[in-house]
Amino acid sequence: MDRLSPYRGKRAADRTPEPVPEAGPLPRGRDDTFVIHEHHARRLHWDLRLERDGVLVSWALPKGLPQDPRRNHLAVQTEDHPLEYAGFAGAIPAGEYGGGEVTVWDRGTYQREKWSDSEIKIVLRGERATGRYVLFRTGEKEWLIHRMDPPPPGWEPMPEQLLPMLAMPGPPPPPGDDVGYEPSWPGMRALVYVDGGDVRVQAADGGDVSAAYPELRGLARVLGSLRAVLDGVVVAIDPGTGRPSAAALAPRLRAQSPAHVRQAAERVPVTFLIFDLLFLDGRDTTVLPYRQRRDLLAALGLHDPHWEVPSAMEGLDGTAALAVAREEGLPGVIAKRLDSAYVPGPSDHWTAVAVDG
Ligand code: MN
Repeated sequence: MDRLSPYRGKRAADRTPEPVPEAGPLPRGRDDTFVIHEHHARRLHWDLRLERDGVLVSWALPKGLPQDPRRNHLAVQTEDHPLEYAGFAGAIPAGEYGGGEVTVWDRGTYQREKWSDSEIKIVLRGERATGRYVLFRTGEKEWLIHRMDPPPPGWEPMPEQLLPMLAMPGPPPPPGDDVGYEPSWPGMRALVYVDGGDVRVQAADGGDVSAAYPELRGLARVLGSLRAVLDGVVVAIDPGTGRPSAAALAPRLRAQSPAHVRQAAERVPVTFLIFDLLFLDGRDTTVLPYRQRRDLLAALGLHDPHWEVPSAMEGLDGTAALAVAREEGLPGVIAKRLDSAYVPGPSDHWTAVAVDG
């Protein structure tokens, strides 16, 4: 028995690409390496590993490393890992222990200020992970990790609840106005908060409708540790016309129990059409002009059967945009001022122009 026996006991060296060293004396290191793995296992999490006495002492962090000193994150201690694991990245086959993709989220050195069985104080010096942290034990394997430094410069907490910006009905803005056009999608307006593996779907009135749209949980997987608030419309496609329609979405809005939601999701899949970005990675983006928010959103590359960033109707004037909407069987277009910030509630910077208006 040595400190790596539990690690070896969980793995078959011939079935996992992870390093599985033979039993024997542990290597001597400098006790100053840390690594944080991003682990897309059954549930996305981050693994913090600190080199100590020839092993990597390890914790699984379901929400990652906290940047906000007011929010402690759970850290569940896992088996010690071999030092070689600090350089590991790869795919652990499905069905094996920890099956899923492992990437190095950050790696660097750490300075130890205190190390006891119940409390560990460290200073991380990595690219993404920097600052003073304390881990304190709250149960057999349960710990909490707390940031002792102020948040990184420029970092802002993610808003708990925003209300959507709303277009005012009106005629198309005159040609030459600095506006962009987007189709008006028939469906349910929603703000989606993605935060370290959690996805919360909020209706326009502020209500939490996450349980109604299990498809959108997958956004956690693709955004990883990138925390974001997305604005868009949940749509369902009418199988008859191949177009989004409010009637097609109705069964999803009616489903109440988890069993009904599952059934409805199988019969009527939804797609979240994303058109705005309100928060990204510690930064309030509502203050940025619409044009810049669209660029940041496009750069996220969100593309899946269940979410999509439809392109704006670039280069079209009001008449042409309306003609496209009419052809597509859509109710109208939204004209958005390219230089406008995002302001919750009705705004005359966004104009809803109806096809038959
Ligand atoms: Mn893990």
